[in-house]
Amino acid sequence: MFLRRASGKRVGGCVRRSILSLLLVSIVLLLACAPVPPPAPVPAPEPVLAPTTPPSTAATTSPAPTPTPAPTPQPAPAPSLSPAPAQNQLTVHFINVGQGDSILLDLGQTEVLIDGGDTSAGASLVLYLGKVVDGDIEAVVATHSHADHIGGLIDVLRAFQVDKVYWNGEAATSKTYGDFMTLARAEPQASLEQLKRGDTINLGSLAFAVLNPPSTMFKDTNNDSIVLRLKYGDVSFLFTGDAGNDAEASMLAAGLNVVAYVLKVGHHGSKYSSSASFLKAVLPQTAVYMAGVHNSYGHPHAETLAALNQIGAKVYGADTHGTVVVATDGQGYELKLQNPGPPRAPPAIPPVPAPTPTPSPPPTAMPTPTPTPTPTPKPAPTSSTATNIKITKIFYDGLVPRTESDEYVEITNLGS
Ligand SMILES: [Zn+2]
Repeated sequence: MFLRRASGKRVGGCVRRSILSLLLVSIVLLLACAPVPPPAPVPAPEPVLAPTTPPSTAATTSPAPTPTPAPTPQPAPAPSLSPAPAQNQLTVHFINVGQGDSILLDLGQTEVLIDGGDTSAGASLVLYLGKVVDGDIEAVVATHSHADHIGGLIDVLRAFQVDKVYWNGEAATSKTYGDFMTLARAEPQASLEQLKRGDTINLGSLAFAVLNPPSTMFKDTNNDSIVLRLKYGDVSFLFTGDAGNDAEASMLAAGLNVVAYVLKVGHHGSKYSSSASFLKAVLPQTAVYMAGVHNSYGHPHAETLAALNQIGAKVYGADTHGTVVVATDGQGYELKLQNPGPPRAPPAIPPVPAPTPTPSPPPTAMPTPTPTPTPTPKPAPTSSTATNIKITKIFYDGLVPRTESDEYVEITNLGS
């Protein structure tokens, strides 16, 4: 084109210079006239993205996260209004496994699973864990040997690498227990460790105090449950397994700190746990019980719901709210409910039997002469009519005219 030498003649000493000049001019012209090439890739203005979840790095005991240098000077992103799941956010998942316990704690790359529900819940539990767990499960705690706590752990041990398995040291004869222990012992690189009162579990930056069982165990499977207390910043949790009143009394007698913002209610809300004295010491703001819909045990028992409400706790349960997740940064916490709804209200108290009127004082009137007995026709007894009633007990404090709810008359139907 233009660069071809139209006149190839050499025209003297300055020809080379002229050609050079010509070349330069032609290059300039070319640049000016040539079709505009596609624009050089100019760095597109990056859309301001919401800060994504920082790649979770190993939650180590070192508190200072390594600052990631900004690669290019960018205007500072607007501060996120809703706190993104920060690296220091602990989530505690009270997983709905029906009638059974399963609680996952997740902090960065540290995951701790307390119990795994029944064997039948294992598959769905593994699915749930798969969405939360990254890499290994650092520890599994089997609070005690009952199937509604360790059954689902069998599938978990098969599906995940578990680094540590904790148990209470109490053997059982069930097949479920046998399968669980076989897998726990076979877990590659896992170690099985027995826990007792006074121990501490340190996992990443989580430190659990072991409050139960005592070194001299109850020889009662429920009461020998491993009980853990976790304090994360200012927010404390108490995980009680199926510990009953005896274990609760033992923890109180030992002077252990059981205070917790969030209480996993003992033994699925059984009335044989959650004694008044224990709840008074725990003083939970939030109480989560784990029970299946229409379970055959009647969990949670009305007495427990009443006691928890009376202490001022807001009560949530797997049968009503599904999976309950507590997220905390160590200063406050928030709840996420699978089935949103208000906390469980105390049950309607069955109407107290109205105090029977105080027995009238024995008649002092003189016996009137007996009238001529006129045989009254005896009503034909029906099957449901009491024909022989006897007052078997009267409690009356004698303070007239006070009427007190504990004054009563016990009437026994001796039947026909
Ligand atoms: Zn249980």
